[in-house]
Amino acid sequence: MDANSDGRDDYSEVDNMRIDVAQLEFIDSNLRTILTETEKQTGLEFTITSLYRINDSGVHGALPLRGTDLRMRDQAIGERVEAHINSKWAYDPSRPQHKCALLHGVGSNLHIHVQTHPNTVRR
Ligand SMILES: [Zn+2]
Repeated sequence: MDANSDGRDDYSEVDNMRIDVAQLEFIDSNLRTILTETEKQTGLEFTITSLYRINDSGVHGALPLRGTDLRMRDQAIGERVEAHINSKWAYDPSRPQHKCALLHGVGSNLHIHVQTHPNTVRR
């Protein structure tokens, strides 16, 4: 960070706040593991666009939190990340039609919805 000519700090290059989800205890521990491992395994750094939503009746409203949205800019990369997560984690082994990662949305709304369930297990 540089100082402007008037002596004030210049924050113009700081446009995203990073958080370490591994430290956030309100997030389900398996969900935290999926998010941190997927960053390490893919080399990607994700931007979270949604965590807890007030009055959400689904996983985004559960505590511990079981839903997180990751911004995606590229459909092909999104499909690979989605397949990667689903190859490593089973959302609920008794209901294999449900997945931990779902790529959806169009254009600037493209994102991977990552979710866990109390029965979620590593494959
Ligand atoms: Zn979501």
